[in-house]
Amino acid sequence: MIGVFLDRDGTIGGDGGGVHPLEFRLYEYSAKSINLLNRNGLKVYLFTNQSWIGMGKFTEQTFLQGCIELEKELEKDNAYLDGIYYCPHKPGDHCNCRKPQTTLLEKAKIDNDLDLNKCYIIGDRLSDMVSAESVGAKKVLVKTGRGLKTLKDLPSSTSAKFKINYVATMFLLLLNGF
Ligand SMILES: [Zn+2]
Repeated sequence: MIGVFLDRDGTIGGDGGGVHPLEFRLYEYSAKSINLLNRNGLKVYLFTNQSWIGMGKFTEQTFLQGCIELEKELEKDNAYLDGIYYCPHKPGDHCNCRKPQTTLLEKAKIDNDLDLNKCYIIGDRLSDMVSAESVGAKKVLVKTGRGLKTLKDLPSSTSAKFKINYVATMFLLLLNGF
């Protein structure tokens, strides 16, 4: 099974930073793009760090309610998520699920019988790319959100001695490559 892991903030909507779950808005092309992935037989997962839960800015319950709202928006374009994988911790918690760590990807692999080497991880941050590299998945960097900054910082990064597989202006356009 091939999965596409989508970062949330800065990749399918929002502005790249954290946002209250009920204020999160998809980019106008995101639902149609996810629908295209659905129709092509790819599994689609949300893959997101939600450190604001750990910081007490909102509860896990509120985050999950935001996910329900997000799924309602997707439904309007017949798009859906096959799963949601998130880390609710803040950086200082020393958990093992916060990106760039790979616990969530390993869990998704077991839950869905995925071949991670054939999966895609799409995001705007270095942490997305590092997690993809760590499990041998394909790295897709979008220029939305923090993507341009990530692209600029990449050559000098010590934790990222690898090549990005695809750099896309935005989530929508890279779909031409599928
Ligand atoms: Zn975590």
